[in-house]
Amino acid sequence: EAEMEAERQEAARSSLSGSNAVPLRGKTDEPKRSAKRLTSPERWEIKQLISSGIVPASEYPELDEDFNNPAVRAEVEEELDVEVREEEPPFLAGQTKKTLDLSPVKIVKAPDGSLNRAALSGAALAKERKEMRQQEANEAADSEARDFSTPWLDPMSSQQDKVFAQDLRSHLRQGQNDAPKWKEATFSKATTFGEITSLSIQEQRKNLPIYKLRDPLLEAIAEHQVLIVVGDTGSGKTTQIVQYLAEAGYAERGKIGCTQPRRVAAMSVAKRVAEEVGCRLGQEVGYTIRFEDCTSPETKIKFMTDGMLQRESVIDPDVTGYSVVMLDEAHERTIATDVLFGLLKKAVKRRSDLKLIVTSATLDAEKFSKYFYGCPIFSIPGRTYPVEYLYTKEPETDYLDASLITVMQIHLTEPPGDVLLFLTGQEEIDTACEILYERMKALGPKVPDLIILPIYSALPSEVQSRVFEPTPPGARKVVVATNVAETSLTIPGIYYVVDPGFSKQNAYDPRLGMDSLVVMPISQAQARQRAGRAGRTGPGKCYRLYTEAAYRNEMLPASIPDIQRTNLAHTILLLKAMGVNDLLSFDFMDPPPAQTMLTALESLYALSALDDEGLLTRLGRKMADFPLEPTLAKMLIASVELGCSEEILSIVAMLSIPTVFYRPKEKQGQADAKKAKFNQPEGDHLTLLTVYNGWKGSNYSNPWCFENFIQARSMRRAEDVRKQLLGIMDRYKHDIFSAGRDYNLVRRAICSGFFRHAAKKDPQEGYKTLVEGTPVYIHPSSALFNRAPEWLVYHELILTTREYCHNVTAVEPKWLVEVAPQFFKVAD
Ligand code: ADP
Ligand code: MG
Repeated sequence: EAEMEAERQEAARSSLSGSNAVPLRGKTDEPKRSAKRLTSPERWEIKQLISSGIVPASEYPELDEDFNNPAVRAEVEEELDVEVREEEPPFLAGQTKKTLDLSPVKIVKAPDGSLNRAALSGAALAKERKEMRQQEANEAADSEARDFSTPWLDPMSSQQDKVFAQDLRSHLRQGQNDAPKWKEATFSKATTFGEITSLSIQEQRKNLPIYKLRDPLLEAIAEHQVLIVVGDTGSGKTTQIVQYLAEAGYAERGKIGCTQPRRVAAMSVAKRVAEEVGCRLGQEVGYTIRFEDCTSPETKIKFMTDGMLQRESVIDPDVTGYSVVMLDEAHERTIATDVLFGLLKKAVKRRSDLKLIVTSATLDAEKFSKYFYGCPIFSIPGRTYPVEYLYTKEPETDYLDASLITVMQIHLTEPPGDVLLFLTGQEEIDTACEILYERMKALGPKVPDLIILPIYSALPSEVQSRVFEPTPPGARKVVVATNVAETSLTIPGIYYVVDPGFSKQNAYDPRLGMDSLVVMPISQAQARQRAGRAGRTGPGKCYRLYTEAAYRNEMLPASIPDIQRTNLAHTILLLKAMGVNDLLSFDFMDPPPAQTMLTALESLYALSALDDEGLLTRLGRKMADFPLEPTLAKMLIASVELGCSEEILSIVAMLSIPTVFYRPKEKQGQADAKKAKFNQPEGDHLTLLTVYNGWKGSNYSNPWCFENFIQARSMRRAEDVRKQLLGIMDRYKHDIFSAGRDYNLVRRAICSGFFRHAAKKDPQEGYKTLVEGTPVYIHPSSALFNRAPEWLVYHELILTTREYCHNVTAVEPKWLVEVAPQFFKVAD
């Protein structure tokens, strides 16, 4: 075992060192601008640097030769002994192994007293972004001024309908109370409702499209080690295949594991399958998601997030506890699923008794099959009804408002059938539900009931499962969901889908090293998937809040996999911990851009998780034990040495949950006054600690929460997270110390994880980040909003109207140098 490890490390070491390495970054005191002719490998490297945007082309005038010149190319190929291909940098091809030069990025104090990046500056980029933002802000202001345009005039043909629609809108907009004519709208008794649940649970199982294929499917699984299963959403893949496998005896040799990209889905399908099997959730059927383990030694069928299986495979790369692994919803292409592709592809080679099933709701099947050794594809014919598409004539300026009006129109004018509205996130969904509720209330008791149900991951599971309950006759249900309802969950009875065309997606700027969730247009594939939800029970309608031209010309055919656009630091740390040192030749289905990998490697290096050779340090190994972003893990481990782990544990727990501060519209003043009592002069991290300690001091009391405008549910989650982390601390023998009142220790620990997120007050306005020089601002909700400390570190940046720092702590600049000497340096 140890020998193998040593061998692996050795291999990685030798593969990482090379003689003709050109610094990628750092050591830039003297830019490579020598008059001498560049050697071909140098030229090649520089070319890569330029194409990935690390250095401007103008820095290298000697690159005048056309690199595509076959002669030059041949020269390079010979010298490097590789085949040169434009799209694939040699360090990705895994042929030539180069040192990734991770030498310190020094930040020295410039003469004017502000810190500057001695390495390649991001100033130009920051300027560009600022201009972009300005333009966006102008546009936003513009669009607010414009009139609301009608979403659905197209389907309404007659003049009367138009008048009607106008009435409806003006009513909805102004909240008039005089009875409009459509109040008479009557509903015929719903015949489709209740049909689904009048069947026994076993009859329901037999009714699913997959049921007829049970035996051929089991045969295919028996014959092949890897199988791709394709089928429409709702055909029974997730809930049935695991049960078929258990019935066929696969659970006798190990667990049947099934991964889900989303927590909500893992919990919800586990609950459903437990019901179908007839056991208590957590017994034979269970689930594991981050910070929540609902399994027991009896568990045979285990649902989990893909992130959890990825973590398990750090300790057990051959997934020996499982006889079958089903990578469900693989078309979602989350980072964890993508990494599991690579890991399990190897595991099936080593374990001939392991079965791997990869399911997808879309057409990527061919690609999956090709990647998994050309394995067979098993497809389940769907049972779908036609869906009528309706587009808007003009682009919508306010999709939220337009979608709510559409929902009301459907409710008041269309025949029975439930509505599914896709929005982007919790806050938006809550707002939408509130507005819908108010508008329904304003219409009085004569209109049929509209049952409004939100669904997103932070919702407690009791509330979540309400969406599966049948709608009572005469009423209508509207489910307002994030894209979890696109493929992972099938809600029965949906006839109408309202699709504004947006979702919240991960966006990552590798050059700025910033990760953010932004609302972006969905892809055509997603739009089709959403529309398909309307045709499950009968012919349906899909209201698209965008123009047909936008659908055809502006939307991408398919979404870009997360791995190609997200911060990879956490993923790379896990891979390194698994002994995958040569990341550049890891078998990714779609490799992430080199720049993104380099940035991640660099940030891990800065955190001291990697050494100069890109190998995992002892600290890095410890960091990988925590299901946390590397920055938080580092902060937690640093707190052990500093003697404030008690406090940092609570702070990490509080940072890992949605905000605890409750601010109802009618009582904002009162809520803010209560919040102010918790505020600490040092900043938000310590404010969160004060809240946590206050709650604990009240003996975890709900009335205390109520009185202080704190969300009790969030606090309980924080406590769960804290307990889990404490368990890990215990297991790995990290001591728990309290710093008492010495908050400086706590602040130093925060610095040691978040020194990259440091900013200094700008003489003009706001702050400037030390590393990139980006202008940022303290968010008005912060405890430091009016205190404006000279130096601060922030937990995250959220871009709304400005780049706002959320959760800010005031720091001493010398701490930054103390905790990250490899990163910061005080200029002489
Ligand atoms: P697939 O994975 O192919 O999309 P599923 O196995 O998730 O299909 O769903 C099969 C059927 O089980 C669907 O018709 C769905 O309505 C039903 N179902 C799934 N989860 C639940 C649940 N939590 N409650 C009630 N019905 C459910
Ligand atoms: Mg499914």
